[in-house]
Amino acid sequence: MHWMKGFTKTSHAVLMGLALLLTADSARADCTYTIKGKLAVQHQLSELVNAYGTSPLKGVKVQISGKAKVLGVWGWYAVWDEVTTNSLGEFSLTQSKACYDHRYKIEVKFQSDDLEVRHETATSSTTKVKWYLIFEDETVDHGPGTLDVGTRTFSSTGPRDLNLKEARDHADIWVAYQKAIEKINGYGPDRAFTSQIRVKFPHNSDVVSDTVEASYANPATQVIYIFESHFNISTLYHELMHIWAYQHVSGELGLAWELMENGSTHGLVDEPWVAFHEGFAEYGSDKLQQLIFGETPRLPYNRERLTRGIGGTPLTSLSLVQRHDMGWWSAFHIMTTAALDDYTFKTAWTGGTASTPTYLVARAPSPIAYSCNPPALTFAQVLKVFLANSTAGYPNNLTKDEMLVSRFYDRAADILTNLSPADSDSFLDLLNPAGTTQPLNEFCSPIFLPLP
Ligand SMILES: [Zn+2]
Repeated sequence: MHWMKGFTKTSHAVLMGLALLLTADSARADCTYTIKGKLAVQHQLSELVNAYGTSPLKGVKVQISGKAKVLGVWGWYAVWDEVTTNSLGEFSLTQSKACYDHRYKIEVKFQSDDLEVRHETATSSTTKVKWYLIFEDETVDHGPGTLDVGTRTFSSTGPRDLNLKEARDHADIWVAYQKAIEKINGYGPDRAFTSQIRVKFPHNSDVVSDTVEASYANPATQVIYIFESHFNISTLYHELMHIWAYQHVSGELGLAWELMENGSTHGLVDEPWVAFHEGFAEYGSDKLQQLIFGETPRLPYNRERLTRGIGGTPLTSLSLVQRHDMGWWSAFHIMTTAALDDYTFKTAWTGGTASTPTYLVARAPSPIAYSCNPPALTFAQVLKVFLANSTAGYPNNLTKDEMLVSRFYDRAADILTNLSPADSDSFLDLLNPAGTTQPLNEFCSPIFLPLP
């Protein structure tokens, strides 16, 4: 009890005074205090800058603390309560407190039931998500009534933590991921994300060198790690789509999967299912960017490009295509390319000048009139192929064994009403780098005008 030794008569008297005052307080009517404001972010990621410039921050946790001035002395901050911003980014808290002047502190946290953004050292910390200070009174005292702190925007010039690099990055990730989650959850409960999305940024493990280090989505913990130099929409959505796939396939996610993306899952791999997951994540990222930001749809590779090589690896057969992430990427894009009959897949490269375009090329106009009926699948339908469908003969979600192009296309034809078995065969023949058929042969027939 050493502290008792320094317990002077003076400090005792002050404490007694405070106690009396607090007693008196409890007997008198409280005053009403309202603190309100609005949260926004001035975007940094180019897609968000171009599409929105600045966005309201919705669904963010806001913690408001207050302190009172009693007998001319400021007390300590005490947390009053936590509220969540509405769809416009607005928050408001009303409390009854003793009628003193107050000062406030407002902190925000990027965490909700659907999403949380973890800070740089979250892995070794019990606090996974940080509170960022966006407002604190230092000179102004507030009596009863409403204090409107106005719009508080995360930007390079914002006060307090509003200009903190990590906080600004988190605000952008928050908006980017909310848009994607809303898009996919909008396809219905069968395709919705099944648990909270947890993303850590920036990620940079000291134990792994930068050359090996990468962004990845851990299949066991389902936490997304975004490497410090991968702050871009393409990577953010790629990792998010890994999580979606993990949540909508059948079977155990083996421990081996934890090694996914640590340098060995891109390019040609032994297991088609590994290439499937990588290709799907990349495809899904493309589709989200197209559907959310209006990016131009990507076209599949043409056969010349596949056979000349993707990243230096010639993909000359279907079995090689399905062992390569970008082979799968092409396989998925074939399914959702609109008006396939407008394009040609070219044919296998046989040597010669390497001036080939990479993707499908426009078909030359024909003097003959054709009637064409190519499949028109949507991204939402491709996602549906993952799901169990007992009526169609698939009691389970997609399994590893089904992550072969022909089986995936067949499953798609069985599950999707607007894709026939003939169409799925056509997809396979068009994807086949050794094939020669073109969409015109597969989906069109000439129109014969009656003779006069
Ligand atoms: Zn990946």
